[in-house]
Amino acid sequence: MDRKIAIIGDIHANLEALNAVLDDCRAQSVTDFFCTGDVVGYNACPSECLKIIRELGCPVVKGNHDHYVASVQDLSDFNPHAAAVVEWTREQLSYEEMTYLRDLPFVYTSMGMTLVHSTMDYPENFGYVFDHLQAEAHFIKQITPICFHGHTHVPMIFEKQLSGVYRIDPQDFKLPFGRKYFVNVGSVGQPRDGDPRAAYVIYNVKERMVTYRRVDYDVASAQERIRMAGLPERLAMRLEVGE
Ligand code: ZN
Repeated sequence: MDRKIAIIGDIHANLEALNAVLDDCRAQSVTDFFCTGDVVGYNACPSECLKIIRELGCPVVKGNHDHYVASVQDLSDFNPHAAAVVEWTREQLSYEEMTYLRDLPFVYTSMGMTLVHSTMDYPENFGYVFDHLQAEAHFIKQITPICFHGHTHVPMIFEKQLSGVYRIDPQDFKLPFGRKYFVNVGSVGQPRDGDPRAAYVIYNVKERMVTYRRVDYDVASAQERIRMAGLPERLAMRLEVGE
């Protein structure tokens, strides 16, 4: 059977979105999972989502929200919405769950694939990659033909050829030999590309095919949970518009 890996990330404690994505993975006959981090933050089900991800038994790399929730980081230069949720999330998690998040690796490499939350260019600094200059700095450290990441919540592809680094719109493609790819899989739990549907990617290892998936989920229920938890209203609103 073909090995089909679902690469999921930026779940951000959105239980409805995560469950909808896992249903879609089953329908797509996914065999393995990789997680690009940020399991918690922004939405109202951090413990539930963490439990599901851990039960998948898959490689997980550390996102900035996972990092901040599990550390004694000063939050004063955080945006206030993010800081409020980090504080709230800390109260929802057990010591054991925080320890799990704290001990996640920044980078995972296996069988010609790399996982990182943000960029290989100092992954512990969680820099954002939106343009080809930022991608060039990343590619200096990318050894494998393909690397999956998230962090910006915007699906995007960077390609490194001999002639330079190019940004490509998110699309399905077959990985050619002799080039490197840095693939942003988008966000399961808080998409920001104007499409509110949950985003993830399937990689068919044998066929070298990268496929983008978008999945409808029950946004209203996720919003209701945010409001019930007393988290900022803006976090509920943005789910509706995907920004
Ligand atoms: Zn994130």
